[in-house]
Amino acid sequence: MFPFGGITSKNRFFKGVSSLIICELDKCSGCCACYNACKHQAITMTEDQWGCIYPLVDEKHCTRCGVCAEVCPEHNRPNLNTPVKCYAMYSPYKKDMASSSGGAATVLGRCVIQKNGVVFGTVYDKEGTLVYNSAKTEPELEQFRGSKYVYAYLGRTYQQIHELLSNGVTCLIVATPCHIAGLRAFFRKDWPNLYTLDLICHGTPPMRYLRQHTENVTHSRRVNRVTFRGINNYYLSAYERNKKIYSKRGDEDAYFSAFMNGLTFRENCYQCPYAQIQRVGDLTIGDFWGLDKDTLDGYPGKPSVILVNTEKGDRMLSWIEDVVVMKQSVVDKAIQGNSQLIAPTTRHPHREVFRSSYLQNGFSGAIRDTDIPDKMRVAKMRNMIIRVPRYIRNRRIKRKIQTFMRQE
Ligand SMILES: Cc1cc2nc3c(=O)[nH]c(=O)nc-3n(C[C@H](O)[C@H](O)[C@H](O)COP(=O)(O)OP(=O)(O)OC[C@H]3O[C@@H](n4cnc5c(N)ncnc54)[C@H](O)[C@@H]3O)c2cc1C
Ligand code: SF4
Ligand code: SF4
Ligand code: SF4
Repeated sequence: MFPFGGITSKNRFFKGVSSLIICELDKCSGCCACYNACKHQAITMTEDQWGCIYPLVDEKHCTRCGVCAEVCPEHNRPNLNTPVKCYAMYSPYKKDMASSSGGAATVLGRCVIQKNGVVFGTVYDKEGTLVYNSAKTEPELEQFRGSKYVYAYLGRTYQQIHELLSNGVTCLIVATPCHIAGLRAFFRKDWPNLYTLDLICHGTPPMRYLRQHTENVTHSRRVNRVTFRGINNYYLSAYERNKKIYSKRGDEDAYFSAFMNGLTFRENCYQCPYAQIQRVGDLTIGDFWGLDKDTLDGYPGKPSVILVNTEKGDRMLSWIEDVVVMKQSVVDKAIQGNSQLIAPTTRHPHREVFRSSYLQNGFSGAIRDTDIPDKMRVAKMRNMIIRVPRYIRNRRIKRKIQTFMRQE
């Protein structure tokens, strides 16, 4: 878990000492660049009342050297690039069907491992907290697979990457754009052996909400993994070790519905500077919602969109072109149905109600004070209406087959 527990609104602004604020809290992405850069161990990453992670500066150890502000992407925003090419892609390898979209992140990671490189991605730790970690082998990489719709804690990841790069090791990091921005601001120079892949990103809620929600719905404190997508569907599933103990359609689950409706993100997500077509990573990946069915010859799964933003991105794509199915497309199509390539997610109108109720009533109580339960009820009705004719149809088909078999 994190170094120490919640900070209160009283010391949230570091006891009013403005010189110790690294960046405004409503802009801070919790990227940990400052935490990785401070040589005086004066920064601790800590949770606020809602469980969002922010840096807290210990005045006693701080020398006022200013390095933390220099590496903060809010002060020194890295250059962004306009995508030069756009592709629709999926991996035909059966195992990669378990990926969230076409498997681009996993296939690229595999190539880096085959080149004796190291891949950085996200995995649940022993306590079930989502953290970034490194993978040097394919089984380790396998654990990163799947979108986890929650904030991932970086800890000392940038220091680890720095050490590897200095030793000539090729590194790939797959991350939300704000965390790639933190890494690039931390380095302040380009490393030829560093490759970055940013995700098209809707926003991230704090881990505390997810933990409280899974405890409420499973009555278990031992949930150590949560998945959000199955093959071609959105389901929130909670696991104790490898046993699934809860699974619900995304639009019928309170956490997932609140996520989709923009109620629960970190404050900075609503003004995200990376929710636009100019990109921070060498490559960008996401779901290709705007793709017409024939582009990939009627591929039944959910293809990835890949935006190539730099020369390095182009090089990365050349590693995988022989092992995946890929068709060139246009950036405008990628934007269709993917509003995160145009603007940040809109703040839900009940967000403030939710946030103040949360402090008294916890996650499930605060959800009840919003329109999310109504949205879930409507979704449930709609899903039932869709399911019933399918059920009747299936029974009819079954009866027809049985009659046919009897006649034979
Ligand atoms: C919080 C979040 C919001 C997203 N919102 C959108 C969206 O609005 N529109 C869209 O088109 N796509 C969105 N995506 C991206 C999409 O869901 C897929 O992750 C992406 O297409 C990659 O699919 P894949 O098959 O290549 O990845 P896989 O092979 O399944 O691998 C998934 C990769 O994503 C990384 N990852 C998973 N969760 C996180 C996380 N919380 N933080 C950082 N890295 C993570 C894993 O470490 C892994 O490297 C979002 C992803 C996340 C994590
Ligand atoms: S000013 Fe220097 S010593 Fe103080 S927190 Fe920032 S990096 Fe650390
Ligand atoms: S470097 Fe990152 S974590 Fe630190 S203040 Fe800036 S945005 Fe927040
Ligand atoms: S929406 Fe922006 S700020 Fe929020 S997690 Fe995604 S990239 Fe980071």
